This record gives sequence, C-alpha cells and structure tokens, in this order.
Amino acid sequence: MVSAVARAARPAGPRAEIQYGAPMDIPDATQARLPHTGVAADAVLAEVDARQAREPDVHGARLFGLVYPTGRHDLEELIVAVNNRYLFGNALNPFKFPEVARFEGEVVAMTGGLVHLPEGGGGSMTSGGTESILMSMLVNRERAHARGVTRPQILAPASAHPAYAKAAHYFGMEYVRIPLDAEFRADLDAARGLITADTAVVVASAFNYPYGVMDPVAELAGLAHERGIGCHVDGCIGGFVLPFLEVLGHDVPPWDFRVEGVTEISADVHKYGYTAKGASVVLHRDADWFGHQFFLYDQWGAGLYGSPGVAGAKPAAPIATAWAVMQSLGLDGYTEIMRGLVATVAKVRNAIDELDDVSLVGDPIGPVMAMRSDTVDLYAVADVLDARGWHINRNTDPYGLHLMLSPAHGAVVDELISDLVDAVTHHGESQGKEARYS
Ligand SMILES: *Cc1c(COP(=O)(O)O)cnc(C)c1O
Repeated sequence: MVSAVARAARPAGPRAEIQYGAPMDIPDATQARLPHTGVAADAVLAEVDARQAREPDVHGARLFGLVYPTGRHDLEELIVAVNNRYLFGNALNPFKFPEVARFEGEVVAMTGGLVHLPEGGGGSMTSGGTESILMSMLVNRERAHARGVTRPQILAPASAHPAYAKAAHYFGMEYVRIPLDAEFRADLDAARGLITADTAVVVASAFNYPYGVMDPVAELAGLAHERGIGCHVDGCIGGFVLPFLEVLGHDVPPWDFRVEGVTEISADVHKYGYTAKGASVVLHRDADWFGHQFFLYDQWGAGLYGSPGVAGAKPAAPIATAWAVMQSLGLDGYTEIMRGLVATVAKVRNAIDELDDVSLVGDPIGPVMAMRSDTVDLYAVADVLDARGWHINRNTDPYGLHLMLSPAHGAVVDELISDLVDAVTHHGESQGKEARYS
C-alpha cells in the first residue's frame, strides 16, 4: 500500500508555500567537547576510517545523484593530487593567490565555451549549484529593483530545484511556480499568464532534477526577452551533459546562450563535470550584470573587501581540481565518457520500457529519469532495492522512483536492471520510507 505521507499533494496554486524551521529534533550541540589532550594521529585516522566504513561507498556505484563516479582511477588520482596541492589555499584574495584566480577564470571560460557564452559575458565559480543559483537570483533581483520593482518575483517551473525557492526566501523575493504540462515540462501558456510587472526572472531547467526532462527553454526565454527581464537556465546537471550529447549527434533542443533571451546559466562541475564537491559555475551573458554579483565593503578598518559569492574565505582546492579535471578530460574525454553513459541509459530505459506496469515520467533527455506506476507500489520496490544495497531515491510526484545514472553505473547496469525487474515482480508492502532529498 502507498503511504499517505508519500502521496502528499503539491500545493494547488502557483504560490509555493515556503517552510522553514527545523524539520526534526535539533541535535544537542553540547554532546562533544574538545579533548583535553590531543589524540594520536593514527588513533584519529582509525576513528575516521571506522566512521567512514559506515557511510555508503562512493566508488561502489550503488549511490545515485549524490556522487558522480567515473570509475576512472587515473582521473581520481589526479583529483586527489591537485586537491592536496591546493588544500590550504584561499581563493578569497585573488591578488595574493593570482594563480588560483587564473584557474577560476579558465574554468569559467571553458564552461562558458561549452554553453556558447558570447563575448563580453562574465561569471564566477561558486561552491555548488545552489550558490550559483543564489547569486543569479540576487543579480536578477537587483536588476528588477533598478527598474523600480519593489517585490520582485521568481517565476519557476514546479519541477525547479529548491534552490530557487531558497533564493526567494533569502532575498525577499516572491516565488511563483509554473504548473507542468502532460509531459512534465513547464506549461508555456500558464507561464505567459503568470508573468506580471513584478516578474524579475523566468527560470527554465535544462534539464530538471525530478524527471530529467527539458523545459521549453527557447520559448520561456522568448517570454522573458519580450519583457526585457532575465531568464536563468538551470544547467546544473545539463551544463556538463547536453554539450556532449550534442557532439554525439543527439537531438538537443536549443537551451544555452545561443538562445537570445537566456541571460544566466548555472553549470555544476561537481556533477557531470566529474570533479569533487565544491565546484559550480554561474555565467552571465552581460559582464555588467556579473558586476551586480559583487559585494563590496570598505567601512571597517581593514581596507576594501569584495567578493562575488556567499563565501568569504573560499577553498582553492575545488577550483584547481575542477581546472585539472577539465584540462585532463578535454572535449574528447567528456564525449567518450558520455558515449558510455548513453549506452548505460539506453539499457536501463529499454528495461523499463519492457516492464508492464511501470513507465518513465515524461521523456528524459539524458542520464536522469523517474519511474511511475498506477499498479505497482514503487516505494515497496525501492525497499527491496535498498535491501540489496542500492541507494535508490524516491519521488513524491508522481509517486515513484528516481534514477540518476553515473558513468560508473555502466559496470553494474546488468545487476541493477535484474534487481529492478526482480523487485517489481517480487516485493512486499512498502515500509513507509519517505522520499528525502536531504
Ligand atoms: C543539483 C542541482 C542543483 C543544486 O546544486 P547543488 O550543487 O546541490 O547546490 C540545482 N539544479 C539542479 C537541476 C540540480 O540537479
């Protein structure tokens, strides 16, 4: 049976209800204390190892969405080596660490090249997709303020990442959701009807996290362009997927800066760019708008302080490491990895197509997809898969399963498929585990 909690419906109207406050008991922050005497390094390491052994294996290809293993040991060794070299750097001050600034500039420019950032465009690296989105929404808010809008709105598909709602919450903006059409894409007519004089930015996902489906980016960007407002394309996943699908000759609808109305794109190097966590890029078509990303302050006793992101002190290692991964793979390397991933995705899609009572949600373009069923309790299927060591994710709407395939899944795809098929045929009652993204 399907649990009532999991079936919780979306809010009926376009206004999202943003909740805050602790969702669970707040852990007691007095439980640990600094040891009086330091613990010997080997004992510290032993404790770290013991704790890590209880976490999921990040190399085991049984996780989905949280890590993006390639299964390539050479690449991993490079990541570790570069990371170690820059572990103690700080990207806060580009004048003191000019080479870190240069690595960052080159990662931004290489990413810009992938998504056809026109000359005069600008951008920066951030800690992740969320921060990239936050900075873009801040810039769009400032642009709306400059036009005299006092309570700017973010207009985003109901399938958009929660980071947009978070931005609205942080920056005092209103969050308006575009309902989805039958194919789980942002409904264009609905979007047109929801644009107001207060709309600061229209969001389109290329592609979205819940279903791996592309929004009608060119059309949404067109709506924004007609009104002279921003259009942020969420390429957090797609930014390092779609360019290589295009190279491989797949049919990729226009989504990047080649679409006239697109003003910002976010792309996460720490997802399908295959570097370690802490690396994303936010790009602006117009360098002037990138300028709005900077916060400057000089009314204290230590001189001018400026930064283009949320962080003050900013880890240098993710920047140097992202640069190294991109240099090492190059267009050919990424394309070859994508070729393998496409084959893995095709196997999984074929297997799902052959299941009688389970289907895909919409038409996913790449390695992210969702499954739904009217007759099979897919949370019960997930329970079986969990018991076999797969960390499968659950979707709430439509109620079902979520799959985010990484290159390393290629080595285990046959086992994944046979376990999935088996679990769909033989499963018990759902244990009522909830869908949780974080
Ligand atoms: C992951 C993701 C984000 C947010 O990125 P983080 O790196 O987790 O902060 C935004 N949009 C989409 C579509 C994503 O998949």
